[in-house]
Amino acid sequence: MTPEIIAKMFPNPLPSVAEIEAKYPPRALQPGQKVTRVAPSPTGFMHIGGIYAALVSERVAHQSGGVFFLRIEDTDQKRKVEGATEVICNSLARYGIVADEGVDKDGHNYGPYAPYIQSERKEIYQAYAKKLLEEGLAYPCFCASEDLDLMRKIQEKQGQRPGYYGKYAHCRNLSDDEVLNNLNAGKPWVLRFKSPGNNEKRMVIKDLLKGDINMPENDLDIVILKGDGLPTYHFAHAVDDHLMGTTHVIRGDEWVSSVPLHIQLFVALGWKAPKYGHYAPLQKLDNGNKRKLSKRHDPEANIMYFWEKGYPEEALVEYIFNLINASFEDWRRTNPDKKAFDFPLNFNKISNTAGALFDFQKLHSISKEVIAKMTASEVFESVLAWAKTYRPAYAERMQNNREYITSILNIERNIGKKSRKDLVKWEDLESDISYFFDDTFTRDIDSFTEELHLSADEMKKIAEEFKAVFDVNDDKNTWFEKIKAIAGKHGFATEMKAYKENPSAYKGNVSDIANVLRVFITGRTQSPDLHAIMSVMGSERVLNRL
Ligand code: GLU
Repeated sequence: MTPEIIAKMFPNPLPSVAEIEAKYPPRALQPGQKVTRVAPSPTGFMHIGGIYAALVSERVAHQSGGVFFLRIEDTDQKRKVEGATEVICNSLARYGIVADEGVDKDGHNYGPYAPYIQSERKEIYQAYAKKLLEEGLAYPCFCASEDLDLMRKIQEKQGQRPGYYGKYAHCRNLSDDEVLNNLNAGKPWVLRFKSPGNNEKRMVIKDLLKGDINMPENDLDIVILKGDGLPTYHFAHAVDDHLMGTTHVIRGDEWVSSVPLHIQLFVALGWKAPKYGHYAPLQKLDNGNKRKLSKRHDPEANIMYFWEKGYPEEALVEYIFNLINASFEDWRRTNPDKKAFDFPLNFNKISNTAGALFDFQKLHSISKEVIAKMTASEVFESVLAWAKTYRPAYAERMQNNREYITSILNIERNIGKKSRKDLVKWEDLESDISYFFDDTFTRDIDSFTEELHLSADEMKKIAEEFKAVFDVNDDKNTWFEKIKAIAGKHGFATEMKAYKENPSAYKGNVSDIANVLRVFITGRTQSPDLHAIMSVMGSERVLNRL
């Protein structure tokens, strides 16, 4: 391409490649130090897989004493959503994932390789695109989108591979005169990469997670600079990962097929490509079958789902570590008090071929464990902070009943010993403890007659007898002796041992009587320790319910 053509295509002054390289010198890394990044597009949607990838990348870098950074890939301006960078930054911060360099939630760049927002790096990409043009490794394409659509249809009809290659690459061999005429006529253009590949030939790519993959070479002359002057993802990531010194790229499976192209781009630009590792998308069980977690159909694909439901951040992080390395669970058992980030993540043990299975049951059991280790006040503050955003009316109730709710949360909470594990997520607290409040307490004695093998009248009689002797100051023993006395009087075994030896001799046992009282007090047959509940509720409320 003649200098005249190049000047016409790039009329504005651009920094020289040498200037750019001098401004962004290679990182001074010690042997073994890794540089990774997370590079989301600001679409307003943060996939839970994005947090998974960010955690892997962050650990890989920081475990090696290297650098982890955040880059905002917004070259597709049509997909860009207002406020999306904030969503990305908040998501990372929420889960304790700290980027050493990147962009903050207000869109400010920080770090030596700034800017980290691709749309602010337009001139850098153009400088390298111009260089490829000068070296004959790129060319302008004037094909209109209708022409390309038509071409695709013809390819489809003839059973040909779709794309801009070989005889379909119409603009690849335009003469300088033709190019000049088109430019002079003001025809819009894009810049295409002149692929050196041959689709008949195969190559082996070494994937960090998947191992060796045998693939055909790339022969597509893909667009590197679009009509709006911005680069495509392929080109931009190559320029950025070179300049920003990325050593390891961990990204979704959907990019595996682009690796042959990406390697060509790095070679054309005269650079060493980073190592690539592609993880398979998270899966879920759907009617017994595994399938990919879908952005469209599964609300839990969106990280905000977990905020709205009030899953403790720590629980989600623990759970994702579990998904990354199955050995996390064993490590956690032997290191119960360490932070999840202390886990020595093993890069080679990441599930690769099939995606990790996202399973709520497991998440819930981890969440219960995490919450059981918190103090009542910590739980209170966490639920309150959550409710302020997601349930303002409940937040108000909490603030008006701080002491009462804290003592409710303290029931069977013995940190370090055996704590009750029932609360799964902040959203559940309201219904879990609704019976502690008179306005949300509901009870239908008749509905329990079958389950408790007693008539409603019998149950009422038992409640009345207990009411007559109840004293809120009784210790648990005295309290229980009173229940036993009622049990004996009604033909129920007072000792479990006696009952087990000869069940037919009794109508039931003392726990059935306690259950009657539980129904009167809580409206349920399952609850935490009943003596503790009564103490927390206080004399008046208990007597009113009996
Ligand atoms: N912007 C790309 C995406 O969101 C990033 C892929 C990569 O990590 O290189 O899929």
